[in-house]
Amino acid sequence: MGRKVLVLGEIREGSLRNVSFEAVAAARTVAEGGEVVGVLIGDSVSALGQELISYGAERVIAVENEKLAQYTPDGYSQALMSVIKEEKPGGLIIGHTALGKDLSPKIASKLNSGLISDAVQVEEAGGNLVFTRPIYSGKAFEKKIVSEGIIFATIRPNNIASLEKDENRTGDVSTLSVDIKDLRTVIKEVVRKATEGVDLSEAKVVVSGGRGVRSEEGFEPLKELASVLGGAVGASRGACDADYCDYSLQIGQTGKVVTPDLYIACGISGAIQHLAGMSNSKVIVAINKDPEANIFKVADYGIVGDLFEVVPMLTEEFKKL
Ligand code: FAD
Repeated sequence: MGRKVLVLGEIREGSLRNVSFEAVAAARTVAEGGEVVGVLIGDSVSALGQELISYGAERVIAVENEKLAQYTPDGYSQALMSVIKEEKPGGLIIGHTALGKDLSPKIASKLNSGLISDAVQVEEAGGNLVFTRPIYSGKAFEKKIVSEGIIFATIRPNNIASLEKDENRTGDVSTLSVDIKDLRTVIKEVVRKATEGVDLSEAKVVVSGGRGVRSEEGFEPLKELASVLGGAVGASRGACDADYCDYSLQIGQTGKVVTPDLYIACGISGAIQHLAGMSNSKVIVAINKDPEANIFKVADYGIVGDLFEVVPMLTEEFKKL
């Protein structure tokens, strides 16, 4: 039996983001043996179709139009709705990224459907497809099932493992030409902030600094540790507010949500708003001078000490590996 499930492949600077492959894996579960169809939207994107297939999609539909060269909610929803009308899927999976968070409610309202947003797990249990999603800033989890209509969910990056890439998988990559009506917003230019190293929201290792880092220069040892581990640097709002680093690094309720394999919190007290952005990390290491700091309550490993002594020692040890 099973159902057909569409997956939106998210493209950034000409490449598919990892969350697209995780979405394919989630879609495989949702399809329950049915077909998983990748959807790519952009100006000239069909060349990326094979990569989605090698991660488990059966076929890919590329919606190409020069008006879709940049993401706009209007353009993407017109494109995605055209595919949905054509394919009549039983499921739709999108990454819970900035793009996904913006687009998915618009699509749900057009489909007059529900939406399970920010799912961290999907599994088959007791004859139902059960989605798990964090609530109350990550303090609890709720389980959701869809009782009728299309199964529409966004999935949090870095939580659902993608399938192993198999270059030998083959499938059809077709293009769908869509007439994109006048867009209400048009992106003329994208000015990117210069960022160093790995993308924070997709990093497998995050080394984060708080007010305990004391200055902009205080972030240097953290950057070195992150670079040795192939990870990214993050921060608490305390550090951002104190101007030690840019707000684009902020992790938490009002910042980015990250779920790396390893999160190293340096000089961060562990306020609930910070925990909301990192407490689902697979392994948490906390370095803090204060043995009573709240961060130790969520840490798998706690080091009571001065971060300016501990971080360089860790860096030296990791360099030896
Ligand atoms: P502090 O609480 O000042 O902690 C600094 C820590 O560093 C202390 O525990 C101290 O013991 C330790 N320390 C000092 N020196 C050293 C040293 N040399 N070595 C080791 N440890 C040392 N915060 C976020 O992070 N993200 C959010 O998204 C966010 N959103 C918010 C939204 C709202 C509506 C509100 C009200 C607050 C929000 N906050 C957020 C702020 C949050 O409440 C905290 O104020 C903030 O997280 C504190 O940052 P901090 O842990 O770096 O600083």
